[in-house]
Amino acid sequence: MIVAIDGPSASGKSTAARNLAARLGLRFLDTGAMYRAVTWVALERGIDPADAAALEDLARSLEMSFDDRGLLFVLGKPVEAHIRGPRVTGAVSQVSAHGGVRMHVVARQRELAREWGGLVAEGRDTSTVVFPQADHKFFLWASAKERARRRAEEIGQPEAAERIAAELEARDRFDSTRAIAPLRQASDAVRIDSDGLLPDQVVDALERAIHEAGGAGQSGSRRSTAR
Ligand code: C5P
Repeated sequence: MIVAIDGPSASGKSTAARNLAARLGLRFLDTGAMYRAVTWVALERGIDPADAAALEDLARSLEMSFDDRGLLFVLGKPVEAHIRGPRVTGAVSQVSAHGGVRMHVVARQRELAREWGGLVAEGRDTSTVVFPQADHKFFLWASAKERARRRAEEIGQPEAAERIAAELEARDRFDSTRAIAPLRQASDAVRIDSDGLLPDQVVDALERAIHEAGGAGQSGSRRSTAR
């Protein structure tokens, strides 16, 4: 079974996808982590985020894998500690907008889905481009204000909510208006508004929608079309 969850930055996709995957007994794929890793390695190697050819080469050659908990490894080394900081966050949208980068990263995501025999993926284009035949598609929404509040709380700086809101909105605008694979709701995705919901309630809503749609029972026959 393939479940694809897209939505804007800090809408709670990662937590929801990770917990849903655990409930369904599936692997979890954080597609944003892969773009962040390409960005981090590019910055470390002094590659300009505007240099499409060098970034495409890097995305083609960078060996990326995940452990059972869904944490990303690059060239066999854990990278979580490096890819979430402001330097990477500030450059990742520019790096991920290059078609050559996306081509290689998306190919690896589809390969992982084949290797794992199913997954819960989250990102910006998992339901529209990476897995258009996913068994279940969701667009996880939350207001900009609520997303900024959650992120500020997460990093222990509630007073920074306004600055964070501006950063999130700028990144979302960039991701939604790029030429290739922009962030948008798939026409056949179920929209979940998570404002006012606790993390567990979001997972409940996703799980309920999957069961109402026929659950895992339908997925077997559709699995091959998702590749
Ligand atoms: O989800 P996260 O905030 O970690 O994603 C970081 C960035 O990676 C996004 O702002 C977007 O530019 C890019 N991304 C993407 N396609 C995805 C996932 C993330 O372009 N499927």
